[in-house]
Amino acid sequence: MKNINTFNFKDKKAIVRVDFNVPLNEKFEVTDDNRIVAALPTIKKIVETGSVILMSHLGRPENKEPQFSLKHILPVLSKLLGKEVLFVDDCIGEKVKEKVQNLKNGDVLLLENLRYYKEETKGDTAFSKQLAELADVYVNDAFGTAHRAHASTTIIAEFFPENKMFGYLIEGELNSLRRVLDEPQKPLTAILGGAKVSTKITIIERLLEKVDNLIIGGGMTYTFIKAQGGKIGGSIVEDDYLELALNIIKKATELNVNLILPIDIVNANKFAEDAETIETPVNEIKDGWMGLDIGTKTVELFTKIILESKTIIWNGPVGVFELDKFSNGTVQIAKTLTEATKKGAFTLIGGGDSVAAISKYKMEDKVSYVSTGGGAMLEFLEGKDLPGISAILKS
Ligand code: AMP
Repeated sequence: MKNINTFNFKDKKAIVRVDFNVPLNEKFEVTDDNRIVAALPTIKKIVETGSVILMSHLGRPENKEPQFSLKHILPVLSKLLGKEVLFVDDCIGEKVKEKVQNLKNGDVLLLENLRYYKEETKGDTAFSKQLAELADVYVNDAFGTAHRAHASTTIIAEFFPENKMFGYLIEGELNSLRRVLDEPQKPLTAILGGAKVSTKITIIERLLEKVDNLIIGGGMTYTFIKAQGGKIGGSIVEDDYLELALNIIKKATELNVNLILPIDIVNANKFAEDAETIETPVNEIKDGWMGLDIGTKTVELFTKIILESKTIIWNGPVGVFELDKFSNGTVQIAKTLTEATKKGAFTLIGGGDSVAAISKYKMEDKVSYVSTGGGAMLEFLEGKDLPGISAILKS
């Protein structure tokens, strides 16, 4: 397999799938440039000797609406790269071919939004071929879309049987996920939070086969507590999943996994910043109250387990962290993860809300790896085949 680090890009044109699906404000200014920053190492490496054709999607255009044009990204991209970035207002066709022909080593050309063509998400072969014909090499560096079999993420790879590879971002993601799933230093602990059991069930089942400790927090807690006969008041619960929760507890025992649920809880009398709050044992929530964050004893318990672990993966907040009043548990988990990292543990944070939490508290640089691909990472953890990854790996 070809590798971005050792491949000779001299005099080559590389078409690079990046994820520039970034948020814009009403003036079409980029409000969060993380995804653009994440693509820079790959772009910089290639332009040392060759040229780069960048392709991405932005939003979900129906009919080539101008607000979804990638030209809005240009100023930020040029500034971050420290060089002018060329742009063409299409991604296939004569105009594009002409621009590409004139590319010199060191040039960066950004193509227009791939999703202006329905063929992109349909994974159309003819469209993929037109993209492929622009370049000598294909580099996929869009982990966030690696779970989609789209033209630019998967089908295009068929046209580069020899010259296809991952960029640095995908390589980093895969290395850190494998470090957790394939050869973790033990003890391995997973912390799973978030609203519902139903969306995490496959991940829980898969992780049970791998981890020493499985910490459960967040809204999922109450389905487990109710299943065991606890009183959960008005807390969020999935009644259809009570039996499944009991099965998970049983399976954990069989597999010798330490399944750790919260022991105490911050209860609120309403879902609001100005709610009244009290702490009670997790299974003694009164009617009219709901559990919205983990309690003091639970923070202590989780902290101890995390600090004894050598590898830790965290997905999903342990409380309603969007409201400051219920963010303490999630903040403490984030802090403990930075402490564990300092002590030498490998810590991987992934999934939209835990990433949002860790960046809200400005701790991204103090953990080992923050995964950028929400859905893709979850599917990888579930053990699913990601078409964008397989397309590069298969010979
Ligand atoms: P998910 O997308 O499944 O990871 O869920 C994330 C959401 O779970 C966040 O918006 C949290 O506010 C929410 N959440 C966490 N803990 C609770 C809880 N105790 N009750 C209700 N929602 C919660």
